[in-house]
Amino acid sequence: MQEWGEVRTFAAEMVKEQCKTVDVVVIGAGLTGLTTAYWLRRHGVNVHVVERDTRIGGQIQTRSTDEDTKNPDHTRTYIYETGPTTGSVSTPEVAELMADLAQTSGGRCLLETAPDAAKRRLIWKAGRFHELPSGPLGGLVTPLFRFADKLRILGEPWRKRGTDPDESVGSLARRRLGRSFVDYAVDPFVSGVYAGNPDKLVTRYALPKLYALEQNYGSFIRGSIQKMREPKTDRDRLATKKVFSARGGLSRITEAEASYIGLDNITLGAQHVQVQPAPDGWETTIPSSLTTLRSRYVVTTCGAYCLPDLLPFVDEERMQAIAQLTYAPVMEVNVGMPDTFGGDYLAFGGLVPTVEQELLLGVLFPSACFSGRAPRGGALFSFFIGGIRHPELLAWSDADIEALVMDGLHRMLNFPKEAKPDFISISRHQRAIPQYDAQSGRRFAAVESLQQQYRGLIIGGNLRDGIGMGHRITQAANIARQITGEISNKES
Ligand SMILES: Cc1cc2nc3c(=O)[nH]c(=O)nc-3n(C[C@H](O)[C@H](O)[C@H](O)COP(=O)(O)OP(=O)(O)OC[C@H]3O[C@@H](n4cnc5c(N)ncnc54)[C@H](O)[C@@H]3O)c2cc1C
Repeated sequence: MQEWGEVRTFAAEMVKEQCKTVDVVVIGAGLTGLTTAYWLRRHGVNVHVVERDTRIGGQIQTRSTDEDTKNPDHTRTYIYETGPTTGSVSTPEVAELMADLAQTSGGRCLLETAPDAAKRRLIWKAGRFHELPSGPLGGLVTPLFRFADKLRILGEPWRKRGTDPDESVGSLARRRLGRSFVDYAVDPFVSGVYAGNPDKLVTRYALPKLYALEQNYGSFIRGSIQKMREPKTDRDRLATKKVFSARGGLSRITEAEASYIGLDNITLGAQHVQVQPAPDGWETTIPSSLTTLRSRYVVTTCGAYCLPDLLPFVDEERMQAIAQLTYAPVMEVNVGMPDTFGGDYLAFGGLVPTVEQELLLGVLFPSACFSGRAPRGGALFSFFIGGIRHPELLAWSDADIEALVMDGLHRMLNFPKEAKPDFISISRHQRAIPQYDAQSGRRFAAVESLQQQYRGLIIGGNLRDGIGMGHRITQAANIARQITGEISNKES
């Protein structure tokens, strides 16, 4: 982590180079870009990664209080994430990447999955956290849902299929499950994943698997049961759905990828980058290092809002369809507590439904999920604030945010008044999570049509194919597979 954190721009060396020809240029050294480049290098494809920032990782940034000079006590080390905290082994591609990285990094990047004990999800209702039920019996007795909705859910398998392809997540869930399930299960879930509004997110784009359950099987319940019964290949079984990180933090993944790709093949601090079509492929210019990269393919993995400057040759109509994507702003506040005062924090975390009218979106318990995140006897908490509902909170001062989080610790997590944190770290992300709303169809069509028109241009990143780390890894593997397949077909 430290080694890569200190990597500085390669401008000086690149000035000498001026022009470089490779098979593929990847724009962005976040998880999508580095994973794409990693798999390409693994298959012997020449690749160069161009990153605007002076460090790799994009939204993934693991920190340690050991690096903080204000906290010289190395016996009380906390390891925390300022961006994503946990992923899900949602597809075989996630398991395959982690297994491969374990090998190529010589054991420096190892998969860590959360223990079953940390599976509990808590939901805030009427002044305290309640466990979200995981089975039918728990569902019957939980105070989270209204009795009428508990009865109503028995009729879910026989409810009619929806006919509106652009139905929102909130509307679909209300229709099939009832209002209290939306308020106390779907809304907090959507807050936790999208920091968004369930009535604005369109199900077929934001939660395509849920949409498919209703469309293909006529019911969430019937569909889930039938899917469980469907035969699975050994590869399918790699998708364990477990909560994962890397031992020591998520940056271990991007560091291991960058290490394998090689520093010479990554330009950091690249400002005002532009990509233009060239006679036999693409030209990427990096004015800040006086460099031009020539390539057969260009893969973009940056946010939609970066594309107008990056791809100036694209017509206004299609670029507008892509770049107007809305992002939820999110603030992540990590708090290290040296003592838990006997509290039970063995859970994934707690989420706060909108109807409860609290300012916090939720809080995760990373030290319950992964080793070494807090000193013995202590705990690490990651609070999430803002989102689509409260974007104004990102403008609050650090002192006000600290007060809000301390209130959460005392009132919601039951820490006694005398409990004082070892550290509080605030990270503001103005464009954190893309919202797959009703505009998404236009965006996907524009991307598709550009990729058809301009051969070798691939527009990736979280503007399409999902917003979680599992989605990013899967998209990257698919892009790398497509390119290696096309290159080897051309050569044979
Ligand atoms: C606060 C927060 C919490 C999250 N929590 C979770 C979670 O718990 N679980 C989960 O699965 N996901 C979570 N996510 C989402 C997850 O972080 C992202 O899906 C993933 O990290 C995105 O990776 P990426 O490579 O697609 O994009 P990014 O990480 O954004 O990388 C894109 C890169 O492109 C670079 N770039 C931009 N423009 C240019 C340009 N013109 N030239 C060169 N480079 C450029 C950027 O500097 C950046 O490094 C969270 C996100 C945030 C912000």
